[in-house]
Amino acid sequence: GGRRFFDDVLAAQQSSLSWDTDTLVEATGGRLLAPAERTGQRFGTVSTDSRSCQPGDIFVALVGEHHDGHEFLEKALQAGAGCLVVSDAGRVTGSGVACVVVPDTLAALGDMAHFRRQAVRRLRQPVVVGLTGSCGKTTVKEMVAAIFTARWPDRADRPAGRVLKTLGNFNNLVGLPLSLLPIDAHHRGAILEMGMNQPGEIARLASIADPDICCITNIHGAHLEGLGTIEGVAAAKGELFALADERAVLAVNLDDARVVRQAQLHPHRTLGFSADPAGRPEAAEVWVETAGVDGEGALSLVLHVGDQRRSVVIHAAGLHNGGNAAAAAAIARAAGIEVDCIVAGLERFRAADKRMQKLKSGTGVNILNDTYNANPASMAAALATLARLPARHRVALLGDMLELGAAAPQLHEEIGRTAATVGIDYLGVVGSFREDIGRGARAGGMKEEQIIMLPEKERAVDWLTELVHSGRLHSGDWLLVKASRGIALDTVVSAFVESS
Ligand code: ATP
Ligand code: MG
Repeated sequence: GGRRFFDDVLAAQQSSLSWDTDTLVEATGGRLLAPAERTGQRFGTVSTDSRSCQPGDIFVALVGEHHDGHEFLEKALQAGAGCLVVSDAGRVTGSGVACVVVPDTLAALGDMAHFRRQAVRRLRQPVVVGLTGSCGKTTVKEMVAAIFTARWPDRADRPAGRVLKTLGNFNNLVGLPLSLLPIDAHHRGAILEMGMNQPGEIARLASIADPDICCITNIHGAHLEGLGTIEGVAAAKGELFALADERAVLAVNLDDARVVRQAQLHPHRTLGFSADPAGRPEAAEVWVETAGVDGEGALSLVLHVGDQRRSVVIHAAGLHNGGNAAAAAAIARAAGIEVDCIVAGLERFRAADKRMQKLKSGTGVNILNDTYNANPASMAAALATLARLPARHRVALLGDMLELGAAAPQLHEEIGRTAATVGIDYLGVVGSFREDIGRGARAGGMKEEQIIMLPEKERAVDWLTELVHSGRLHSGDWLLVKASRGIALDTVVSAFVESS
């Protein structure tokens, strides 16, 4: 009956989205080289890695800093690729399959994703969300995905459960198109993270995804190497708002003056959110109050959406998750989702691996594994969280924040000072800026015996073991471990958990 008809309609729409040589040429503006009998053939999914290429797939030969996809054309053909998208036509003579020649294969990949996005816009319109910001993108993405996956009794026109989201942290000019390409009429929404380290990158990602809802989580001093100043960072993130379609809604973090300024530059409809502990800003449609942190690190919040008010528990440590929850709720509100669905989704959210992830050592020490990445804002947020956790002693093992450019020594010194002022009991530091962090900590009032310089991170496990043996790191106490990904402090976390 009706159900069957509905499925058939969806299936038809889906197949209208599959690729053939005509749509590929239309999407990329490329030149088709095809053996005559091959035109009209339908292709499978888009692949940029010959190792995961399946029979019938479209292999796009990306040209990167370290690899040239043209070197793998033979492998892709062996895997059964049905079509090759290349920039070097000379490499595909005699391949026997359809080939599309474009000036730039990375641009073609983005153009293909954009083509799919526009195709679904004409169908049942999944809500596309574009997210950028200095920190919290992946966290907010996962929160929004959890809300979008929950039942929406008020939006019965959108089938539950099917949500597309950025794969892991795949948020650049390769990852965003690959995350977006599978979009089809079944999807209720697509939540896409956009990262950058150059001006113009967010503009390109925004024009590919053409989001219905845009959010800049916050603007801090990260990636200063490529962008010079914090104003450069603000302008680069602001490209998300600048490129937004005139019907798009901007979810605006009212607690971040730089984000507010970027929003004011554009005429779009806005939806303000805040987690300001000082009170609800007048313009905040969504406001989150942090009510407390329990012994397990979970956050109790009070969520205000319009004039409705609900209690919410977020199963993730980190006071900054109040702000992230406010961002996610604002995005969901802009998508027309009712408050109880927002609450249900937020409560189902779980922190991603190595992002303020809670672990316990054999001796009962609570560990906050935040070794996924680090910049000055996230370091300060993590230290503030550690300081608020109920414990006898709070210990931090910190390492380098990378990609900060010339300001790096000073920014590391400030983090040391923050560790001292929030009241960390013992501080271990590794990496090439350890002396800077140590100097800041001493300047902030920490005593020499509270700070240890660890010339190699391997020594950190011995130090932690010593803290446990001397009773300074007890069952129920908290240990924060945090540095940029490149320092790989997660190895210390695993070694400590295994040894204790
Ligand atoms: P990336 O740029 O690497 O993709 P991201 O923006 O996706 O990072 P997340 O992965 O969500 O950020 O979080 C990374 C870390 O940043 C967290 O573990 C936490 O320490 C910190 N963090 C997350 N949200 C905030 C926030 N709103 N304010 C400050 N720090 C935050
Ligand atoms: Mg991320």
